[in-house]
Amino acid sequence: DYKAIATPVRTKAILEKYGFSFKKSLGQNFLIDANTLENIVNHAGVNAESGAIEIGPGIGALTEQLARKADRVLAFEIDQRLLPILKDTLHDYDNVSVIHQDILQANVKEMIQDHFKEGQPVHVVANLPYYITTPILMNLLMERLPIDSITVMIQKEVADRMAASPNSKAYGSLSIAVQYYTEAKVVMDVPRTVFMPQPNVGSAVLRLSMRNEPPVDVKNEPFFFDLVRASFGQRRKTIMNNLSRHFKDRFSKDEIREYLEKSGIEEKRRGESLSIEEFARLANTFYEAL
Ligand code: SAM
Repeated sequence: DYKAIATPVRTKAILEKYGFSFKKSLGQNFLIDANTLENIVNHAGVNAESGAIEIGPGIGALTEQLARKADRVLAFEIDQRLLPILKDTLHDYDNVSVIHQDILQANVKEMIQDHFKEGQPVHVVANLPYYITTPILMNLLMERLPIDSITVMIQKEVADRMAASPNSKAYGSLSIAVQYYTEAKVVMDVPRTVFMPQPNVGSAVLRLSMRNEPPVDVKNEPFFFDLVRASFGQRRKTIMNNLSRHFKDRFSKDEIREYLEKSGIEEKRRGESLSIEEFARLANTFYEAL
């Protein structure tokens, strides 16, 4: 007699039973639509062999769907008040571990080793707290965790920036940072009506498929990301202009002109027109001249 948590009636009943009030500061917008949850889990590619990691289980709406499809679920929740609720709502599932921890403080690598079988495919699936979307995702990516994919509900505008291609308005250093580690795709837009309470911003589901190795050969990663950020410094300005300003203490204008030419990039172009391959070529040319 399974009844999904993610309905308005059931969610309200659970919140009332425990006298739970939402904390806006923790980005608490719970999903109340089972269809949306099913779509998220399907896009994630979770199956009976998978390990699933959830960030912020709330009252367990998504956790429950993951528990039904995955082999094991590991969920990190920062809000102590939710622990007794989760114990109750997930009572029927013996394959779920809820960890009371801030995901930004957690040693996720160690947790993966402790909770999943060796070589088991692992997928991160979450309706993220929007106030820390970018730090959470960049942490997961930069730690080079043994995970296969990340499928997350986030603010639509941020999802678009992460998945953007050159020459689009949303394209910027965040697109490059995310796409250096993953193949990124916005898989669905989601209306506000599927949340309780409804967020003030539009939402979308972003799917990141982890790359085995970076798409470009970069001599020095911190230098590459620094040059990318500098290239987008002032969006209306040319690449020549932005790089001259950023590197004024290290390179003369003539040197910068020379490196652009050597990399096959016209100095009048704007950062937003450069592909990740072009950024890599440019950064490597500069780096070798340092
Ligand atoms: N998964 C639930 C759902 O879809 O209904 C809740 C999603 S809600 C958008 C975000 C959840 O993340 C909340 O339960 C919140 O308490 C939790 N959270 C916020 N900051 C966190 C952090 N730093 N680490 C772990 N969980 C966090």
